[in-house]
Amino acid sequence: MKRIGVLTSGGDAPGMNAAIRAVVRKGIFHNLEVFGIYQGYTGLINGHIEKLELGSVGDIVHRGGTILRSARCPEFKTPEGQQKGVEQLRKHGIDGLVVIGGDGSYRGAKALTELGFPCIGVPGTIDNDIPGTEFTIGFDTALNTVIDAIDKIRDTASSHERTFIIEVMGRDAGDLALWAGLAGGAETIVIPEEPFNMDEIIERLKNGQKRDKKHSIIVVAEGVMSGTEFAKLIQKECDIEVRVSVLGHIQRGGSPTATDRVLASRLGARAVELLIEGKGGRAVGIEKNQLVDYDIIEALGRKHQLDLNMYKLSKELSI
Ligand code: ADP
Repeated sequence: MKRIGVLTSGGDAPGMNAAIRAVVRKGIFHNLEVFGIYQGYTGLINGHIEKLELGSVGDIVHRGGTILRSARCPEFKTPEGQQKGVEQLRKHGIDGLVVIGGDGSYRGAKALTELGFPCIGVPGTIDNDIPGTEFTIGFDTALNTVIDAIDKIRDTASSHERTFIIEVMGRDAGDLALWAGLAGGAETIVIPEEPFNMDEIIERLKNGQKRDKKHSIIVVAEGVMSGTEFAKLIQKECDIEVRVSVLGHIQRGGSPTATDRVLASRLGARAVELLIEGKGGRAVGIEKNQLVDYDIIEALGRKHQLDLNMYKLSKELSI
């Protein structure tokens, strides 16, 4: 292994830059040449590939987004697109590739591996929905952004004695909603992994009002339904005034937290080690604070598990 490439793909996440930096610096530390591939698989197909030096990744560890930029590339889902990608990699003399992204990006890495090109998947998404790792790069930063928003909404909710529904991201996973709801003291958390009971939610709202509670916060994961739809459901059942706040893309941005920077540095560096060890087709992750890696096909076949004990706890704490 003499030359490796790195790309970021799919939805961006804070901490991707710290991961790119780790790949580049760890590679150079081991006397490899490292090439940055711009705009994910789109840049791979088009040959938008440039050599990165130590200085190319200076001053980025604290920045959100990704200096390599990201893209969705439908063409890469086709065998022709994948073949073009392999040709570009060979043309540039690249022997191994680190793909930082979500499960769609992993599928691209798996396709390349099946074509005989060694790839390592690094989990980068705010959704925390990648199998084979307890945490993904970006989740902690997004979580802190959501908590900050909940705290602020709580101030105004309290002043006006209002019920707020806060819609958070996470695609089909409820992790962001669950963690943010627990840390933000939400009365109700609605996640895709567990059915919700509207009678119970309304009962809790009414009980809160009876004991002179000044506000109520309901966190709804986007994977269940939109905040507006949820508000309509509540208002069909009772005449409590509700306000909806959709946090949206603010959750994807911002300077990564220390936790995300450290996680990204560890995972990015581990990906390079695996390539040096001649192990392609792996996905790196973290479990019980230890670095792990799995066959990328096996990892994709698993299902990410949300911690249902935490969900139970959130209910117990919001009686
Ligand atoms: P994420 O990586 O955040 O889950 P996407 O699902 O949009 O985001 O995937 C990112 C990109 O990965 C896609 O635009 C496409 O280029 C590539 N990709 C997704 N699925 C596949 C697949 N089955 N085979 C090859 N490439 C894929």
